[in-house]
Amino acid sequence: MFDLRDLYQQVIVDHNKSPRNFGKLEHYNHEADGYNPLCGDKLHIYLDLDEQGRIADVSFEGEGCAISVASASLMTEAMKGRSMQEMQAMFEAFQQMVTADIAEAPDDDTLGKLAVLAGVREFPSRIKCATLCWHTLKAATEDSGKVVKTE
Ligand code: ZN
Repeated sequence: MFDLRDLYQQVIVDHNKSPRNFGKLEHYNHEADGYNPLCGDKLHIYLDLDEQGRIADVSFEGEGCAISVASASLMTEAMKGRSMQEMQAMFEAFQQMVTADIAEAPDDDTLGKLAVLAGVREFPSRIKCATLCWHTLKAATEDSGKVVKTE
């Protein structure tokens, strides 16, 4: 039988083992640091916004648990070419997905592959691991210069 949970697990393991968009971008105009003290996850996001304010490129460095690395890997993949409005909409949809109490199927049209992280809602301590990269990306777009902390 096809087990959806196994598939989710495989994608997370794969993105943790070989994270996409890992490393410093050659050209970037925004960056930010994120830290989740609860788990020890640390991320640095490099962001290249074009003149229209779209995400031309995005990458990350850092270390953390499998969920934080896989989430950052999946997020950077999903964010290329997105406008700020699209980024914000996906951030909100993602947050809703991982904090929903009801086990409803995530809206694949909005989140695409990111839906594999829906399972973290069963592990409340892991929600911050999954959302750290999003908060850090947002901070990079705002150039706050502060380290984003989940606590
Ligand atoms: Zn973590």
